[in-house]
This record gives sequence, C-alpha cells and structure tokens, in this order.
Amino acid sequence: MRRVTIFGATGSIGCSTVDLLLAAGGPEAFRTVALTGGRNVARLAAQARALRAELAVTAHDDCLPALREALAGSGIEAAAGPAALVEAADRPADWIMSAIVGAAGLAPGLRALRHGTTLALANKESLVTAGPLLLAEAARHGARILPVDSEHSAIFQALAGEDIAAVERVIITASGGAFRDWPLERLAAATLAEASTHPNWSMGQRITIDSASMFNKSMELIETREYFGIEPDRIEAVIHPESLVHALVGFRDGALMAHLGPPDMRHSIGYALNWPARADLPVARLDLAAIGSLTFRAPDPARYPALGLAREVMRIRGLAGAAFNAAKEAALDAFIAGRIPFTEMAVVVEAALARLSADPGLGNAPESLDMVQAMDHLARQVAQDVIAVRGGKD
Ligand code: NDP
Repeated sequence: MRRVTIFGATGSIGCSTVDLLLAAGGPEAFRTVALTGGRNVARLAAQARALRAELAVTAHDDCLPALREALAGSGIEAAAGPAALVEAADRPADWIMSAIVGAAGLAPGLRALRHGTTLALANKESLVTAGPLLLAEAARHGARILPVDSEHSAIFQALAGEDIAAVERVIITASGGAFRDWPLERLAAATLAEASTHPNWSMGQRITIDSASMFNKSMELIETREYFGIEPDRIEAVIHPESLVHALVGFRDGALMAHLGPPDMRHSIGYALNWPARADLPVARLDLAAIGSLTFRAPDPARYPALGLAREVMRIRGLAGAAFNAAKEAALDAFIAGRIPFTEMAVVVEAALARLSADPGLGNAPESLDMVQAMDHLARQVAQDVIAVRGGKD
C-alpha cells in the first residue's frame, strides 16, 4: 500500500488532496503516515481520523493540547513545532504533498527529498527561494519532484515525451486577479476583502491576494525558470480571464501545445498523485462549445509591477529569490494587517531588493538551507524598515 504524507493538510491544497485520497479509497487504498497543519487543529484531527493517519503535527506548540484532545482515543500520535514538522518528513513515505504556505514549506520538503521520496510540490516558495538547492538534493538522493502548481503541471504534461532542447518558449496564463478590470487609480484604495476574492479559483487567502497583485504570477515565472531550466527571455505571462488554458509550450517548429482544464486544483494534485498513470478524477469536463471563446491579452506593467521585479530576480538569481519572497511575505503581512495600501506591496519589495542588491551575498547560489534562511531573515528586516520609513503604521 502506498504511504503518503501531507504537509499543510488543513489548507486549500491540503483539503483537496485529502478529498482525492478519500475518493480513491482512503485508508483502504493509502497508508497515511503524517498530516500536518497550523492552527486549524479541529480540521487536522478530523482529517487524521478519516485517513487513519499515524501522526498529526501542528506547527504551533500552543496548539498541541487541543490537538491531543481532538485525537483522544484514536491512537493517532500528536506532535507540535517546526522541528516536529521536519521530523515528520523523516518518516518513510512514498509520496509527500508539500502544501504549507510560505517559506516555512521549504525545510520539510527539503528533508523529504533526502529520503528519495516523491515530492508533489505545491509550495511554490520552495523553488523561488531555493530552486537549485532543491533540485540538487533531489538529484543526489534519486528523489522526484512533481509540480502541482497548475501552470507547471500543465507545462510538465505538455512536455511529456518531448525534448526540452526543442522548446522555444513557455507561456503561462494569469487570470489577472480581482483587479484586472479596475481603473488603475482605484487600486491604492483596494480593501483586504476585495483583494481576497478571486474571479475563478478558490484558494488560500495569501495566494488569492498574490493573484490580484500578480506576485503569484511573478513567483510562477521564477518557478518555471528554476524547475524546467528555461531561460527567462523564453518565458512569457499572458492574461487569460477564463483560466481554462493553464500554460502553453512552444516548440522550435512553431507548434504550440496548450493544456486546458477547469480551474480546479484537484486536476494537478490528482495528476501528481497518479503520475505516471492517469486515473479518473472528480473534476468537471470542459464543454468547449458552451465556453465559446477564449481570450488573451498582454499584462499591463503599470498594473502589475511585480512581473518586472520577477525579471530582475531571474537576472540576479542566487539568493535573490529568497530575498524577493521574504520581502513579498513581509509586504503581504503588512497589507493584511492594514499597515500599507495594496499598491505599496510592490513598492516595498522593489525598495527592499534595491537595498539588498548592495549586498554581494545576494548573487551567491543557495547551497544550504541556512544560507536561504539567513537571506530570508535579512530581507524581512529590510522590508520592515522600508515599511516603517514609508509610514506603514504599527
Ligand atoms: P492555505 O493558506 O489554504 O493553507 C496553508 C497550509 O499551511 C495550512 O495547512 C496552514 O495551517 C499551514 N501553515 C500556515 N502557516 C504555517 C507555518 N508557519 N508552518 C507550518 N504550516 C503552516 O494555502 P494554500 O493551500 O492556498 O497554498 C499552499 C501552497 O500551495 C502555497 O505555497 C501556495 O502558493 C501553493 N499553491 C496553492 C494553490 C491553491 O489553489 N490554493 C495553487 C497553486 C499553488 P492552518 O490553516 O491549520 O493554520
């Protein structure tokens, strides 16, 4: 029986993964080694019971008593804290879903690779902050990383059986997020509730806001560069409001292979779960005649300055991805806390990157988790300074 673990089981991707496991037979079909979550211990315990997991881990020590209570009588072990999360990755498993949000997802995924486990990677921050480190670790231990982000799963599927050397370009699509059609001058006054609504996808709050600012697409450009090794000038982002084409791969003979599907993450999660086979998945089938037309347009750099920042990060490489992500997370926290306006997030990240570019260490390749975490720490501090200087209220 295949052994599975889910990091970030209580989140949007995690819940979809649990649903797919249950739909495929649950404990009769999979041995669930560990499930991890954050503060939502009630959900974590319910998932652990439903899948008869061996271990449930919350990221927060203060949540441990509640988790223990919720698991009482089940025989399921409970643990807490960042070290326990990483230890969960040491438990032998055949397939691990990496779906913690943010830079916190890197350490457990990296540890899982050491055991040669197949890592289904939703946590895009892992590739953005430490792509070369992650790929080197996978290669060293014969582990496989399967992309779960819908665009990267789409590229991966379009490349099946193809020679990467024949790839001329890759195009990833973007819905354009909540403010795609807003007048530019309104953006500065966008509220948290407005930024937390996505036109097509149902996702966690942070990635939804990142979709509105296109920091999410910026991360995906970097992910594409890191995972597939495609040069930045061959990677494009295009706005596609219907979110039905997820990515396209263009080959040197002019052919363009598109991947289409409904905006439902259960497709790419299920693809990674069943890979290399394809299995029935409970996702809607597209009715092209009913859809009628698909539209595309170029993103406006004034509306989405994050895209330009991603280009700069890909030019510098090294630890620039770790700095970019950490500054972005700090700016996002500040927006969520009401300290800065929506449009200020890109300003903060740009200013933080500009300050950090004076640091010769920014171009150093990410060779260890410590290096990545040190740059993450520094960039958060710099971003906080920028936020304070620009008048972000505490
Ligand atoms: P959610 O916010 O819905 O869930 C995040 C998960 O991580 C929850 O289980 C949460 O626990 C846990 N968590 C939060 N903070 C920490 C921490 N510091 N340490 C350990 N665990 C933590 O996120 P999503 O599911 O939307 O996204 C997960 C990842 O997948 C992100 O990297 C995102 O960019 C990526 N992704 C998501 C997509 C989507 O459709 N949602 C699409 C493509 C990629 P709890 O809630 O219990 O506190």
